Amino acid sequence: MTNETWGRVRQELIKAVGKNNYTTWIEPLEFRDLSDGVVTFTVPTSFIGNYVSQNFGDQIKFQLNMTGTEVKRIAFQVAANSPRRPAPAQHSEKPAMAETQHDLPGAPLDARYTFDSFVVGKPNELAHAASKRVAEGGPVTFNPLFLYGGVGLGKTHLMHAIAHELQAQKPALNVLYLSAEQFMYRFIQALRVNKMMDFKELFRSVDVLMVDDVQFIAGKDSTQEEFFHTFNALVSANKQIIISADRAPGEIKDLEDRIRSRLQCGLVVDLHPTDYELRLGILQSKVEQYRGQYPNVELRDGVLEFLAHRISKNVRVLEGALTRLFAFASLVGKPVTMELTQDCLADILRDSDRKVSVEEIQRKVSEHFNIRLSDMIGPKRVRNFARPRQIAMYLCKQLTSRSLPEIGRRFGGRDHTTVMHGVRKIEELITTDGQLADDLELLRRALEG
Ligand code: ADP
Ligand code: MG
Repeated sequence: MTNETWGRVRQELIKAVGKNNYTTWIEPLEFRDLSDGVVTFTVPTSFIGNYVSQNFGDQIKFQLNMTGTEVKRIAFQVAANSPRRPAPAQHSEKPAMAETQHDLPGAPLDARYTFDSFVVGKPNELAHAASKRVAEGGPVTFNPLFLYGGVGLGKTHLMHAIAHELQAQKPALNVLYLSAEQFMYRFIQALRVNKMMDFKELFRSVDVLMVDDVQFIAGKDSTQEEFFHTFNALVSANKQIIISADRAPGEIKDLEDRIRSRLQCGLVVDLHPTDYELRLGILQSKVEQYRGQYPNVELRDGVLEFLAHRISKNVRVLEGALTRLFAFASLVGKPVTMELTQDCLADILRDSDRKVSVEEIQRKVSEHFNIRLSDMIGPKRVRNFARPRQIAMYLCKQLTSRSLPEIGRRFGGRDHTTVMHGVRKIEELITTDGQLADDLELLRRALEG
């Protein structure tokens, strides 16, 4: 196992344990070594080690095993009282903290995020074209280039691609890429140690400045102020600026008006949610990349189409699914079939599939309990009808995005409190009534399959 593997596993763990747990417990772990199936981490205190071991030990082990690293046990060693050195976080979203201490400008670029590996489709073609143009490093035509779009649609990928391209084609240019969070961090550091002159000088000396996730500085007044000055200084020196955010400039709350209008005066392009073709294209290109890593994994027809169809949220989830699938298939030495896919990705598929309709649920549930649909929806309160009705309500709450009043309306105009009562009742029964729990599981599978 390498630090890089651990970097990737950490990314998976963010998803698995949530950001807060991750920052508090996982981030402080430093990978030390792996021998005889025992992975050792250095921890700042034994308390952290114990806590992690009890609460996240299995997850860490599982994720490590998923990467093909065989891990039997996890051990912790308390760091000798040296100050903690953050572990190199290759693919971490915010490796900034580690870097700042070494006073390296900017954040490391992910080598995988290039134009070559970026799949172009209708939803992102404008953003891609604009990025390509900026990456030529010619005379500045639009300033800034403002890229926006939802999570996981490729903003960071495009920015890194621009930086890679510029570094390759115009090595003399001073390109600085960092997240808005890092910008703020550096700014505050500079204030604290009285190094504002250095800070200003550093930022004003770049030829191309890229700030990722700029929505982060909204509401942070002195950081905004400094950002504004940096921005103006660079624009008037005719230096290229590239900004990303999760929404359009006009929609970022708590952003000063003058900054907003500054951001809008260049080229603003958005990355649209992916469509089926783009998702399929991305999957196909990822599979090409995996060929080298997993030469023995056989991929059956239809699997990619299935994934592109079912996982429509964002590209990161899509990629994560494929990574897991390949790691799993290679681990168990089986081909990637539809069946294996459904087993291995059950959680992701469940999350992304909310397309079951209330009517479908009502139909399936009444079939299952052998009652008429009209009785399920109708007013009769006898147990034979009431229980299936509650089960159907519960499933509607779980599997659709309908609100309680909406569900009530579709169950013969019942009040939302009735629905809530039904949902609670089933939640209660699941834990005590094994038969009912089984019925639910069956129904859920039938509805999702
Ligand atoms: P954002 O910064 O918009 O949240 P990222 O750039 O981090 O999204 O993209 C999330 C993941 O999806 C990355 O691993 C990236 O490589 C991948 N990705 C997104 N869009 C594409 C695309 N069009 N082609 C290939 N990979 C993509
Ligand atoms: Mg990003």
